[in-house]
Amino acid sequence: MRKMQKLLRDSSFWALVIAISTTLAGAGLVYHNFQTQNAVALEIIRTGNCIDQLNQIHSLELSEILSGEGNGFSVQLTDRLKKMATIWPKTQDSLLFQSIANRLITADQRKINPNLEAEFQQLSTRLISRIDQLSTLRREYFRDDLNGFIVLIAATIGMFLFSTWSLRKTMMLQRKKDLIELEKEAISERENLFSTSFEFAAIGKALVGLNGQWLRVNKSLCNMLGYTREELLQKTFQDITYPDDLDLDLQNVQQLLSGKITSYQMEKRYLHKNGSIVWANLSVTLVRKADHQPDFFISQIENISRRKEIERELAESEAKNRTIVSNSLQALLLGRPTGEIIDANPAAISMFGYSLEEFMHISRDTLFDTTDQRYPAFLERRAKTGKAMGELVGIRKNGEKFPLYLSVALFKDRTGKLLTSASMVDLTESKKSEAALRLEKEKLANVLEGTHAGTWEWNVQTGEAEFNDTWAELLGYDLRELGPISIQTWNQLVHPDDLEISNRKLAACFNRETEFYECECRMRHKKGHWVWILDRGKVLRWTADGKPLRMFGTNTDISSLKSAQKNVEESELKFRSIFNSAFQFIGLLDLSGTLIDANQTALDFGNLQPGDVIGKKFWDCHWWQISPQTQQDLQLAFNRAALGETVSYEVAVWDQYRKPIHILFNLKPLKDTTGKVIAIIPEGRPIQEIVEAREALLEKNQELESFAATAAHDLKEPLRMVNQFLMRLNEKYGQLLDEKGKQYIHFATDGAVRMQALINELLDYAKAGNEHTPMEEISTEELLLEVTSLLKNTFEEHHASIHWKGLPNLYGQPTALKLLFQNLISNGIKYQPKGAKPEINIGMKDQGTHWLVGVADNGIGIKPEYTEQVFQLFRRLHTREEYAGTGMGLATCKKIVERHGGKIWVESTYGSGSTFYFTLRKKPSPDRAASKNSS
Ligand code: ADP
Repeated sequence: MRKMQKLLRDSSFWALVIAISTTLAGAGLVYHNFQTQNAVALEIIRTGNCIDQLNQIHSLELSEILSGEGNGFSVQLTDRLKKMATIWPKTQDSLLFQSIANRLITADQRKINPNLEAEFQQLSTRLISRIDQLSTLRREYFRDDLNGFIVLIAATIGMFLFSTWSLRKTMMLQRKKDLIELEKEAISERENLFSTSFEFAAIGKALVGLNGQWLRVNKSLCNMLGYTREELLQKTFQDITYPDDLDLDLQNVQQLLSGKITSYQMEKRYLHKNGSIVWANLSVTLVRKADHQPDFFISQIENISRRKEIERELAESEAKNRTIVSNSLQALLLGRPTGEIIDANPAAISMFGYSLEEFMHISRDTLFDTTDQRYPAFLERRAKTGKAMGELVGIRKNGEKFPLYLSVALFKDRTGKLLTSASMVDLTESKKSEAALRLEKEKLANVLEGTHAGTWEWNVQTGEAEFNDTWAELLGYDLRELGPISIQTWNQLVHPDDLEISNRKLAACFNRETEFYECECRMRHKKGHWVWILDRGKVLRWTADGKPLRMFGTNTDISSLKSAQKNVEESELKFRSIFNSAFQFIGLLDLSGTLIDANQTALDFGNLQPGDVIGKKFWDCHWWQISPQTQQDLQLAFNRAALGETVSYEVAVWDQYRKPIHILFNLKPLKDTTGKVIAIIPEGRPIQEIVEAREALLEKNQELESFAATAAHDLKEPLRMVNQFLMRLNEKYGQLLDEKGKQYIHFATDGAVRMQALINELLDYAKAGNEHTPMEEISTEELLLEVTSLLKNTFEEHHASIHWKGLPNLYGQPTALKLLFQNLISNGIKYQPKGAKPEINIGMKDQGTHWLVGVADNGIGIKPEYTEQVFQLFRRLHTREEYAGTGMGLATCKKIVERHGGKIWVESTYGSGSTFYFTLRKKPSPDRAASKNSS
């Protein structure tokens, strides 16, 4: 009822009514008109049709017929007229047509019958006028009626259109109203719906202010970002956007605000409250106010972290696969089963020599030697089973053929297309290696044969073992005698004590504590004695669960080595006992001066344990701590020994009570076969007693010397008196004495002169090398000039000559050295054959620490058996009558040289001269302080 009322109130209803009634009225009018005109119209339509027929007759044939020329068409015309007669609406016309048709005869017939001709003419005239009449009538009817009809139709259409327009308009207005109403209802409904869908949406949703402030956020968004709703509403989206993504986001916002876009979507990162990154897919739409001004944004934020993670993993895996493929040493090709190649990795490119581009244009068959019999079989296998692998012959771009190992598999890609993947390895090198390996094996076999090594292979799990013939030979067996062979064979032959050690070592190897197994063990020879065997091996294969599976090893007879080792040990033992029981202190120093070894005597001397001194610098050891100077001297001496010199000197060191004990100390360099110093041997022996005795002796000597000097000096005076009085006796009473008396006086005077000479030389001897006289550098040449001048008379008397050339300086006591040269030169002039011209040559040679001086003469020489005796005091080889002398000259020389730290000796060829050699220590340089006492 309400709907009815509403309908009646509705203007569209009335518009509809008007439209319908107008249309019905129009339609009714048309219908009425149609009904009233129906008969006329029917007639007109029919007439129209007939007229068309008649017109055709009229225009074409009738005139011809009537003119008597259209005989050919008369039958046709007759038929038409008959047909028209049947359909013609007006009876008189129909009759007319019938009668014309009936009388339509040919012109020839009409010529025969003039009545007919007349009747025909009459009928024809009637027909033509009727046709004209009807034509006119039709034209007029259609013109008038058409106008009215058109007006009526136009009015009806106009009415209809108007009604429809007003109806549509009204309906639209009504619909709008309804829509507003409905919308109002829907809005509140939608609001509810929105609220619910907003709040409980599975994805993050938010309304965001134009400044980025979160205005409304849903639960999913809070969960996604880890903030509470209140916390989030305090923030802007900029605050929690990952800095790198902010620019793009803000650019999008700008575009949105400027109206260039209506929404945007982007993948971006938010910062979770805990600092982690949340990947999200963001969709933003701008909501505008009624005046089109931007109001706020609606954002939909979908968490895509997991997807990103998967994408990242995928990308990583893709990259990994790409890297693997790119870096694979195996050549990889991707192709189709038909043989086209669609991808190739760098290894394939380098293997075949084609570029990637070139690969795309060649067929698989180009890459392989298709004439190789294995090739078709390979393809067949692949086609049947979907995969195949085996060796084939490859062909490089340059035509070179090479062996390769190919593995092919068919697979489907994501789209289901069948592809082939081929991986290839160039076997050129491995073929070479195989040959090399064969060679190596042969070599190994030769080595094993050459070293006479037995070999064994052992399956640790089953106990099966194999030994070679040599192994059996080592123990005096033929391998067949020992069968059946197993590891038990070995176990039974090995010495029980050594089996235990061997098992321990094997266990260590099996536990991977050691890489190799090595054990020296005794094995029983067939003849019963033990043979020392070096048993070595390595596990070559392990079971899947890490147990040793196959082990390979060798056995070598080391009996001779063992006995040599035993000898060495024995010799070492011997050496050790000698070393330790030696009276001397002996040790061993490395080249840095570290004490490596010291014998028991040395340790006992200082009451030391090896640990107290071994490994220490020698000069820091107890013995040498007596004074810093001693330590320093030792270091300097060590440096010289390290350079190859044997250094020897007397030094006081500490004993166990820190009492200074003198030792004669040597540092001897130990050299290898090439003469290189490899170690230093320090050696010392206590000479405290000797030193003390020597000192006592020296004291006594000094006493004696001073006694001799005093005695000689004191004897000189009474001897001078004896001499004087003998001379006076001879002068005053000589003529009173007989010959005998004169002879006695002569003997007495001669004895006194000789005694004087003896006393002088005794004094020289006593004073020679007096330690209190200071040593100094002496010009040898000046010294010689002085000596020559002193001996001037002697030189002249014997027509002697002396020669030297560029002599270096010496170091010593000037007076002593002068006496030394004087004695040697004067002896050289004296001990000459009668009438010979003495010739003295003096030369010097550098001996490092010393100068060697030689004084050579061309005199009578000395028999070899006397070359040492001549240096003894008072030892003379000739009578006074032959050569005057006291036998003290060379003894004095010896004393002087030794006091200067040198040696003197003579080398002579009897009958053709002698050379007296002596050495004199050089002037010590500051760094040679330690050699103060060294010899
Ligand atoms: P003296 O010359 O006073 O006899 P020396 O001690 O000088 O005593 O010499 C000892 C001996 O050595 C000499 O008696 C001499 O027989 C021998 N002698 C020394 N010098 C020479 C020399 N240059 N040639 C040969 N014999 C020598």
